[in-house]
Amino acid sequence: MDKKIVDKICSSQNIEYDELESLLECSDDEMDYLAEKAREVSRSVFGNRIYLRGLIEISSHCKNDCYYCGLRRSNHRAERYRLTPEEILDCCETGYGLGFRTFVLQGGEDGYYSDDVMVFIISEIKRRYPQCAVTLSLGERSEESYKKMFDAGADRYLLRHETANEAHYKKMHPENMSLENRKRCLFALRSIGYQTGCGIMVGSPYQNVECIYEDICFMKELKPHMIGIGPFVKQSDTPFGSFENGSVRMTLLLLSVLRLIFPKVLLPATTALGTMDPLGREKGILAGANVLMPNLSPVSVRKKYALYDNKICTGEEAAECSVCLERRVERIGYVIDHGRGDSPVS
Ligand code: SAH
Repeated sequence: MDKKIVDKICSSQNIEYDELESLLECSDDEMDYLAEKAREVSRSVFGNRIYLRGLIEISSHCKNDCYYCGLRRSNHRAERYRLTPEEILDCCETGYGLGFRTFVLQGGEDGYYSDDVMVFIISEIKRRYPQCAVTLSLGERSEESYKKMFDAGADRYLLRHETANEAHYKKMHPENMSLENRKRCLFALRSIGYQTGCGIMVGSPYQNVECIYEDICFMKELKPHMIGIGPFVKQSDTPFGSFENGSVRMTLLLLSVLRLIFPKVLLPATTALGTMDPLGREKGILAGANVLMPNLSPVSVRKKYALYDNKICTGEEAAECSVCLERRVERIGYVIDHGRGDSPVS
C-alpha cells in the first residue's frame, strides 16, 4: 500500500501531508522499499561515491542559549575552548595530508571570530590549499559579514533552520532568537552565492508531523544545496536533558524521503546518527545519504565540543577516523571520493 506512496514521491519529487503522516507509520518492508528507491536515486546522481568533509570544531564558546545544545551560554558545566588561527591551519594541514578537500569550520557563536579574524583564516586556507573548499558553520551573522567571508573565499555555509514551525522554534529557543532571522540568514547566504545547507534534528522535543511537513515545504522554498539531519540526542546539562532521544529509524526514513524529493542535494550521514547506532552512518548511506563528515579537530578539544551526550570519535586521531570511515564505506559497497564534492546544482 505505502509502496505506491513511495513511487509517487519519487516521480513527483513532492510529498503531501497525508503521505508523510502515513509513511511515518510504515512497516519495515515498506521502509526497505523506500530506502532502496532512495539509494537508486542517490546512485543515479553520485554513483557509489561518498564525499568527505573534514570537520574542525573551532570553538565551544557560544553567546546563544538554545535549549537543546550543550554549548549554550547557561551551561556552566561546559568546558570552553577556542582554536587559534594557527591551530585551525594545523588541522587543515593534517586533513590535507589525509586527502580531505573540504574543511568545515564549525563553532558556537563566539565573538572572538570577528569578520577580520575569519577573513584572515579563510584567505590563508585558500592561499595554502587553493583546490580545497571551505565550509562555514558559525551560526547567525549579518549579511555583510557573510559577504566578507564569501569574498575571502568561503564556498559553503551550513545553518540548520532547526524547525520551520514558529511555535516549535519558540519552544526550542529563548525569546531573543527568531525563526524569521534564521530564515533571513539562509536566504541571504544563498543569494550571496554560498552553497547553502539547512536542516533539522529528528525527534527534537515537541516536534510533530506538521513540523516536519513544514520543514520540507521550507526546504522546497529555499532550494538548499545541502540538508543536514540527524537525531536529537539529549545533553544532560541542558533544559532538554531529560527528553527522549530522536530515533534512528525516523532519521533514516526522513533521509530517504529527502533524497527522493531532492535528488541532487548533498545529504550527510551525521555523527549524531553514528552516536545513536554503531552502524548509523552506514545505514544513513544505505538510506540515500552521500556525505560523511569525520572529525579533524585536535583530540585535546573533542570532548569539550559536547553538543550532546556520548558523542563518538572523541578519542581517535584524525588519521584513525579517516581510515576507519574508508573501511566502513567500502564494506557496504561504496568508495570515498577525494574531490571537493561540490553541489551538482548551480
Ligand atoms: N552555532 C552553529 C553550529 C551549531 S552546532 C549554528 O548555530 O549553526 C551544529 C548543529 O548541531 C546544530 O545546528 C544542531 O542542529 C545540532 N545539535 C545541537 N545540539 C544537538 C543535540 N542535543 N542533539 C543533536 N544535534 C544537536
